[in-house]
Amino acid sequence: MTAEVINGKDLAKELREKMTKEVSEMTANGLTPHLTVVLVGEDPASKSYVSGKEKASKEVGISSEIIRLPETTSEEDLLKQIDELNNNDGVHGILVQLPLPEHIDEDKVIEAILPSKDVDGFHPINIGYMMTGKDTFLPCTPYGVVTMLKSRNIEIEGKNVVVVGRSNIVGKPVGQLLLNENATVTYCHSRTKDISAVTRSADILVVAVGRAHFINGDDIKEGAVVIDVGVNRIEDGSLTGDVDFESAKEKASFITPVPQGVGPMTITMLLENTIKAAKGLKNA
Ligand code: NAP
Repeated sequence: MTAEVINGKDLAKELREKMTKEVSEMTANGLTPHLTVVLVGEDPASKSYVSGKEKASKEVGISSEIIRLPETTSEEDLLKQIDELNNNDGVHGILVQLPLPEHIDEDKVIEAILPSKDVDGFHPINIGYMMTGKDTFLPCTPYGVVTMLKSRNIEIEGKNVVVVGRSNIVGKPVGQLLLNENATVTYCHSRTKDISAVTRSADILVVAVGRAHFINGDDIKEGAVVIDVGVNRIEDGSLTGDVDFESAKEKASFITPVPQGVGPMTITMLLENTIKAAKGLKNA
């Protein structure tokens, strides 16, 4: 079997075209969604992610600004900045780019963002809403994964899902969202014994480990759907996933590539959350 490739770049383009239309209608009715991104420090990867988010926002007509603060910003000053944004009715979505400098407590900062403006979906209240299946901002990467599966009408209900990785931003929430869709979910992590035996039981395998080619064709059941969240820079400078695409595609029924897989979907879901924030969250 050679897998069908789910191209995240193409899907993202399709979804962003729909969003452009929706935002233009909202703007015509006097409401332009606005996203404020806060960047503390000069981390090159963070700077590039933040510019990508601003560019993508502008492309669909979302108004966006980046507040750039120096590396030396105190936790108190950052919290004050967030408080101002919370109280500014013109700001619908707030995103603080992570990681933050070491002297700032990330949890405190995430918890300071008003849940109704938390377009990253990282606030504990929004995580609670996600777990209980209420309307909320879903964390962007996991939301992107589920959107990719649904875009190909891949059945989730009753399927055995294995998630490799249990981080708070990817592994745990992606498993939770698939559980909400009635899958039977198993998590693997660094203490799991015989990971390959577990991954070979998966109808849908989601890999978010952060190790190049951690999973290969031998770890995959014939016909499984394989979603590769990993982004790893290898020796020749190129980007590659956590899955060895070449061997995996011979076993899988569907597979996502890296690049042009989950990555472009993450920003797309952020745009969707920002539009949702402008419209107002039902729980808020
Ligand atoms: P993370 O916080 O480092 O978590 C990695 C997870 O993998 C942990 O749960 C860890 O287990 C597990 N793990 C590490 N080594 C393992 C091993 N040898 N065997 C089994 N499990 C192992 O990473 P993350 O933030 O979830 O990101 C994962 C990958 O996704 C990275 O490559 C990242 O760049 C990528 N990513 C992509 C996007 C996107 O938009 N495409 C977004 C976010 C992240 P323990 O919990 O036991 O330590």
